[in-house]
Amino acid sequence: MAALLRRGKGIELKSAGEIEAMRAAGLVVARALAEVTAHAKPGVSTGELDEIAEQVIRDAGAVPSFKGYHGFPASICASLNEKVVHGIPSRSEVLADGDLLSVDCGAILDGWHGDSAVTVPVGSVAAADQGLSEATKAAMWAGIEQVRAGNRLTDISHAVETAARSAAKADGATYGIIAEYGGHGIGTQMHMEPFLPNLGKPGRGPKLRVGMAIAVEPMLTLGSADTEELDDEWTVVTVDGSRAAHWEHTVAITEDGPWVLTDPDSAR
Ligand code: MG
Ligand code: MG
Repeated sequence: MAALLRRGKGIELKSAGEIEAMRAAGLVVARALAEVTAHAKPGVSTGELDEIAEQVIRDAGAVPSFKGYHGFPASICASLNEKVVHGIPSRSEVLADGDLLSVDCGAILDGWHGDSAVTVPVGSVAAADQGLSEATKAAMWAGIEQVRAGNRLTDISHAVETAARSAAKADGATYGIIAEYGGHGIGTQMHMEPFLPNLGKPGRGPKLRVGMAIAVEPMLTLGSADTEELDDEWTVVTVDGSRAAHWEHTVAITEDGPWVLTDPDSAR
């Protein structure tokens, strides 16, 4: 999930052993998202994808962290096309060829949280949608690269913004960068201090230290960055109806740099 804009102090520090425990939670989330991605085909409902994710999480002995979070009714957020984040999966929402689906998922294992999101092209999508998703993913990775001890929090924000703008230029597009929602600290809870903006000047905010864990999650749109919440009090959509993409990883700061806990291929 994406954290709402808020500010504060006090960032949880994890021991090396606790980061190892978070890795286990992160791998459960990765498995759930891999299964959802494999099943996200035309004719499949987002409600079915939610059931698949929940099954993977429970089979691993973990708990879906989204389910019941401030009353959220499902194990994934399924945000289709103009939905940015926090879409509620439903049996009546059936995927069609050309849809762009963002899936956010979280799990708790032994008290530790993992949180990750992917954007999945359903069938054959427009080149602009593919470009949007790839730009968002690239912005996430540029941010992750800055999740290092000694950096300041907004070094991450600035890297995300810079990568998003440079991808837009390369694509001949203007991507909206969502500002109301962003990344967050994570560990014994899903949303912890600090809130991580996806844009801004570098060199500000708390200094990053070994043992912190941060969820990096840019959200980009093909149009304006203005969003609104639907009457279900969850679903965030673009005001102009433009499509959106969302990518997220949970990242721990180790002596050796960023460890991407929700990426099975990331080595410590
Ligand atoms: Mg998150
Ligand atoms: Mg998330």
